[in-house]
Amino acid sequence: MSATIIDGKTIAARVRAQVIEDVRAFTERTGRTPGLATVLVGEDPGSVVYVGAKQRACAQAGMTPFDHRLAANASFEDVAQTLARLNADPAVSGILLQLPVPEHLDGPTLTGMIDPDKDVDGLTPVNAGRLALGLPGLRPCTPLGVLELLHSVDARLEGAEAVVVGRSNLFGKPMAQLLLAENATVTMCHSRTRDLTAVCARADILIAAVGRPRMITRELVKPGAVVIDVGMNRLTPEQAGNTSGLVGDVDFTAVVEVASAITPVPGGVGPMTIACLLRNTVDAARHQAELQ
Ligand code: NAP
Repeated sequence: MSATIIDGKTIAARVRAQVIEDVRAFTERTGRTPGLATVLVGEDPGSVVYVGAKQRACAQAGMTPFDHRLAANASFEDVAQTLARLNADPAVSGILLQLPVPEHLDGPTLTGMIDPDKDVDGLTPVNAGRLALGLPGLRPCTPLGVLELLHSVDARLEGAEAVVVGRSNLFGKPMAQLLLAENATVTMCHSRTRDLTAVCARADILIAAVGRPRMITRELVKPGAVVIDVGMNRLTPEQAGNTSGLVGDVDFTAVVEVASAITPVPGGVGPMTIACLLRNTVDAARHQAELQ
């Protein structure tokens, strides 16, 4: 058996096309465009690339990007004041503080200063609480994207054994909450999980977000499981050979033989994150304009 390959690029393109329609409708009704502000502190090369991609995607969707860059030695007050200004700016529908911030800054506290109604990353304590309580709110983009991928292959979530490997605030915890809301039976694994193989091997839905290249081997996967690979690990040029150099947490070549559906890396979860960020931004704009 060889698994269905879940094509994140195509599904993300569909989401982005819908966002363009929604932005057009929003602008027709309000005479305004949704705006997405990114706040980048320092010049971490990965973060510079991510922020650039988000800014471009925002403009392509017909929204207004606002690009705020602060020096690596910016103080807590500098960043807090920038966030406060953006919170108060009616042209800004969504605010994204690019993480990680430099070490001298308290990332979680700064994130918590974002107006929850503009928190398009869904990472403020208010939105995390809303998710945990099953209340409406902005949800984190990567877990939202994964849910969309699962729906794309009609994965049965109700009553399913879903295992999430990795318990970060950014991904693992909100992913587990979203699956719970879909009535899956959810188990979360982490570095202290006693028998990872046994837990993973009973999963109907197996989601890996660890950051360890190819750690999910074939023996961890139940035949017929749907496997979602969130990991993004960059190999050295020697390790990469003639590949893209980006590998996931799943041993794709082996697992594709036993799973019923699987996401590739690259081209699986990655493209969904920005697509869901755009969708959150237009949703935030509509909510602020009291259109929903
Ligand atoms: P993170 O904050 O580094 O957390 C990693 C998690 O993996 C932790 O919960 C850790 O457990 C767990 N872990 C570490 N070693 C383990 C082991 N041997 N067995 C079981 N669990 C283990 O990670 P993250 O921010 O969620 O990111 C995880 C991966 O997803 C990274 O490769 C990242 O680049 C990728 N990612 C991709 C996207 C995307 O858009 N495609 C978005 C977000 C993240 P403890 O809690 O016990 O330490």
